[in-house]
Amino acid sequence: MEVELDEHLETCLKGLYIIGDGSGVTHSLSHASASGVYVAREILQNI
Ligand SMILES: Cc1cc2nc3c(=O)[nH]c(=O)nc-3n(C[C@H](O)[C@H](O)[C@H](O)COP(=O)(O)OP(=O)(O)OC[C@H]3O[C@@H](n4cnc5c(N)ncnc54)[C@H](O)[C@@H]3O)c2cc1C
Repeated sequence: MEVELDEHLETCLKGLYIIGDGSGVTHSLSHASASGVYVAREILQNI
């Protein structure tokens, strides 16, 4: 029920991140939105 992700919420396909409940990792509004902010910051750091 969980997508396989690394600690940055990135899949084995580089640049493909999964956020929110679709990942199977988050289960609430705040957790899902925080995962979006987390990945946005991660992407910004990488460019
Ligand atoms: C009845 C109910 C009550 C809840 N109450 C609470 C609560 O009190 N507090 C709390 O923290 N959490 C609550 N939750 C959980 C919370 O709603 C979810 O954890 C949160 O909405 C997950 O956010 P998300 O952005 O990951 O997914 P979602 O909010 O589900 O957003 C996914 C979006 O993707 C869209 N979508 C789907 N497929 C496609 C497609 N193929 N193309 C384009 N768009 C697509 C959907 O239409 C949807 O808008 C509740 C959930 C339910 C069902």
